[in-house]
Amino acid sequence: MDIALTEARAAGARGEVPVGAVIVGPEGVIAQAGNRTRELNDPTAHAEILAIRAACAVLGQERLAGYDLYVSLEPCPMCAAAISNARIARLYYGAGDPKSGGVAQGPRVFAHPQCHHRPEVYDGIAAKDSEQLLSDFFAARR
Ligand SMILES: [Zn+2]
Repeated sequence: MDIALTEARAAGARGEVPVGAVIVGPEGVIAQAGNRTRELNDPTAHAEILAIRAACAVLGQERLAGYDLYVSLEPCPMCAAAISNARIARLYYGAGDPKSGGVAQGPRVFAHPQCHHRPEVYDGIAAKDSEQLLSDFFAARR
């Protein structure tokens, strides 16, 4: 999660919403990313999506069975669906996201009957640090 927070800080420094994600497998960290929606002009360039794409590219496969994803903020519904499609084994996230989260609130993607793969979910990991990053970022923009 320390690496995810480092990616989140780097994203904030680029003017992006400070969220970072890391994918870890038996061989260790294989991908890490921060939000790049503004830089790439791409509304799907969330940290989780970029990390999943990078990990799949490294491995040359479309699924990440047995891999874990760490992300500083509760995934949105789009990212939760991608995590499910990627067959991620375990999801660790920091702060909950009442506004845009799709795991513990909102659509609760993994609880949906059409969800074919549910990762194990562990929330609240370094949540205070993640929340602080986000609140500092938005406070500075006001
Ligand atoms: Zn997302």
